[in-house]
Amino acid sequence: MITARTVVAGVVGQPIGHSLSPVLHNAWLAAAGIDGVYVAFAPRAEGFAAFVEGQRGGGAIRGVNVTVPFKEAALAAADEASARARLAGAANLLVFETDGRIRADNTDGVGLLAAFDEQAPGFDPAAGPVAVLGAGGAARGAVAALLLAGTPEVRVLNRTLSKAQDLAIDLGRKVAPSSLAGARGAFAGVTAVINATAAGMAGGPGLDVPLEATPRDAVVMDMFYKPLETPFLARAKALGRRTVDGLEMLVQQAAPSFEALFGAQPPGIDVRALALKAMGQ
Ligand code: NAP
Repeated sequence: MITARTVVAGVVGQPIGHSLSPVLHNAWLAAAGIDGVYVAFAPRAEGFAAFVEGQRGGGAIRGVNVTVPFKEAALAAADEASARARLAGAANLLVFETDGRIRADNTDGVGLLAAFDEQAPGFDPAAGPVAVLGAGGAARGAVAALLLAGTPEVRVLNRTLSKAQDLAIDLGRKVAPSSLAGARGAFAGVTAVINATAAGMAGGPGLDVPLEATPRDAVVMDMFYKPLETPFLARAKALGRRTVDGLEMLVQQAAPSFEALFGAQPPGIDVRALALKAMGQ
């Protein structure tokens, strides 16, 4: 039941109709018996800043997760930001304080590492170099999380080399940029390959990189999860590599967001199964 005390939170993106975040958060709210609701907002691209500024009045929305294409703008709109959000250059969480201040955080990176813990137990991000494919917002979050977790070298491969080079300039000397054409050499000796490109979004076979050049015990992760087993992950599995899927990352980044928004840890219900059902899988 919606009451006068119902806490409102949500997710902001454009488009947003596909988002699974409301499924996850509302299931946790119901199971925890919290008087709250989590909805989706899709402001016009030029309306995002006004949407955020409007929350400075206090007493309306508790906070929001932020997704494509607003993560960089979300960081810029905040008064204060966590170290991991600043390092990533992007925020996926804004909390609107009652005094009008706006706090930014980025839980994508912890979600990524928690997904590895869940689906590739024993993986140690500090044990060796990791290759990240892509140089957009998701890749930045991944590189920042890996560096904070002690990864000695992150090899960033991107279709547009200059964007990988910019990322390396921003994130420091442990980042080695290259183009996707350099994948075979860059995969030698890695402990993991993480696909953070949007290549799979158009459908089709996705990114064609020589995964066979990775060591046999390397873990292969795809942030894209529609379908759950992407062609990229299917190729990795066929090669006998352990894999981590993007849905697990989504679930794992949602947990710390829920805690920040509703002040309680999410209850132990199987939200992954609910998300799969919502995806029709
Ligand atoms: P973004 O900022 O728009 O970056 C897109 C990246 O993909 C760029 O590096 C771009 O390369 C590359 N790219 C796009 N199409 C490509 C193609 N056909 N071949 C090779 N590279 C291509 O997007 P983002 O926010 O980083 O998101 C990237 C992906 O991660 C999306 O699929 C998103 O759904 C997913 N994601 C998942 C989670 C999760 O929780 N599972 C969280 C965040 C993001 P150029 O620089 O050359 O254009």
